[in-house]
Amino acid sequence: MTVRLKIINEEDSIMKRTKTLIIAVTVAAAIMAAGCGKTGNPETELTSSSVSETTSGVTASETATESVAETEADKLPGQDFDVREELFKLRGDETCKQVLFIRCDEGTKGFAQYLVKTNEEENVAWKITRECNAYIGLNGPGKTKEGDTKTPLGVFGVRSAFGIKSNPGTKLPFIKITPDTYACGCEKYYNRIIDAKVTGHKCTEGEQMYYYSPEYNYGIETDFNSANEYGKGSAVFIHCMGVKPYTGGCIALPEDDMRYILRDADPGLKIIIQKF
Ligand SMILES: [Zn+2]
Repeated sequence: MTVRLKIINEEDSIMKRTKTLIIAVTVAAAIMAAGCGKTGNPETELTSSSVSETTSGVTASETATESVAETEADKLPGQDFDVREELFKLRGDETCKQVLFIRCDEGTKGFAQYLVKTNEEENVAWKITRECNAYIGLNGPGKTKEGDTKTPLGVFGVRSAFGIKSNPGTKLPFIKITPDTYACGCEKYYNRIIDAKVTGHKCTEGEQMYYYSPEYNYGIETDFNSANEYGKGSAVFIHCMGVKPYTGGCIALPEDDMRYILRDADPGLKIIIQKF
C-alpha cells in the first residue's frame, strides 16, 4: 500500500516544523496500521510509531516524499486530493472536531477510522478512537452520476443523522424515519430526505426509508451533491450494514459502530472517502 508523505511545511521555525512532521507521520502511521487490518489497540500503535519515526526526523520523511510518484491518469473521479493535507487543514478548522475516514480497498471492501481532534502538549493532533470494516458501492469508488452504484470520493460534510430506531443521543440534527420518510430521487426534491405528508409529494423515484432495515436503523446523510443537481447522484449515506456485502453507493458500517459515531459526533463532522 502506498502512503504519500507529502509534507506541508509552511512553518518557519525548526521546532514548529518538527511538530508538523510528527503529526504527519502520526497520521501516516495510522493509515499504515489500518493497512494491517483491524488492530487491537490503535492508540498504542499510534504512539509507538510516532515516537520511533520522530527520532529519524526530517530526512526520512523528505526522502519518502521524493521517492513516491503518482500517476495522475490513474486517478478516479474525486480522488485528486491528499488525505493528510485535508487532515492538516482540518486541524485548524475549529468547526470540525471529528473525521470519519473511509479507505476504499479492493472491490466493495473498505475500512473506516473515526478520528477525534486532541490537544496534547499544545499540538493539535488526530487520534483514532474507533475503527471497523466497511462496505462501499457495488461498482467501487468514483461516483459521477445517479445509478452508477459507485461511492463518491472526497471530503464531505454532514446534513443530518437519521434512524428507523430512536435517536441514540446524537448532537447532529436527527430525522426519525417513519413510513412517510423518503430519500427523494425525483427532480422536485432531488437528493433530499423528505416527509411525504409535510411536502405533499408523491415520491415515485425515491426510497421509502422505513422499509430499509437494518440498513437505515441508523445513518448519516452526507452533503454529497450539495447543490442537489438532478442526476448527479443522491442519497449518499453512511448507514448500517445489511445482509449484502456491498451498497448502492453509500458506506455501510456495523450497527454498533454507527451508534458509537452518532453518539460522539458533532455537527462539524467531516467524512473523508479515499482510494489509495
Ligand atoms: Zn420524490
